[in-house]
Amino acid sequence: MAHYYHEPHQFRYALGAFVQAARAVTFMLQKEQRVFKDFAWYQEWVERAKKDPVLQWLNDARTDFVHRQSLEPKSWLRMRCIDNPREIPDDNDDGSIAFNVSPFECTHYYMDKGPGTDHGHEWTRYWEIDGLRGREVLDACAEIFDKLDELVVDAHVRLGHSTTTFKRENSKRNLPCMENLEKYRTVRTVVEKGREVWQDEPPRLHRD
Ligand SMILES: [Zn+2]
Ligand SMILES: [Zn+2]
Repeated sequence: MAHYYHEPHQFRYALGAFVQAARAVTFMLQKEQRVFKDFAWYQEWVERAKKDPVLQWLNDARTDFVHRQSLEPKSWLRMRCIDNPREIPDDNDDGSIAFNVSPFECTHYYMDKGPGTDHGHEWTRYWEIDGLRGREVLDACAEIFDKLDELVVDAHVRLGHSTTTFKRENSKRNLPCMENLEKYRTVRTVVEKGREVWQDEPPRLHRD
């Protein structure tokens, strides 16, 4: 999801895959409950999960939920001009011009569109989905991952098994790649030889 944050199609696909995989965790645990002498601890977890907004969203989300309509009301894409020679000072706080454009087009679409540009842009996206109530999607999914990770670790510990952790000391997230999400949300383009080029573009965004 982080990799495809600026590719609406793949992002939605990855989100759907994440939700299915995340739900499979508790299904699998329930299926294997006979290996535990006592399964009451899981019922207690379920009760706590019912009061947890992100886990509640995961539970309620329909499997065909990742429709454009459910992302439409709150998601956005902001395009800010960098060193646009036509800039009017004081148009924005920092003097730059910014536009809100449809987040349902990928960043390449805007880069390749229309006449050549003489300046680069900063592109910031925000994805939110119905039911998440003010939470950005990637951030909420990282939190879901951590909570399910803790559940899986707990299940292993109860059976006397150990697990591997990737968590760094003093990190609020279990996966190092989910620690700073801002870096996935904003990208920059510059003009090189008359063309707008994405700086540090992640590899293989389009399969051609
Ligand atoms: Zn511009
Ligand atoms: Zn693209």
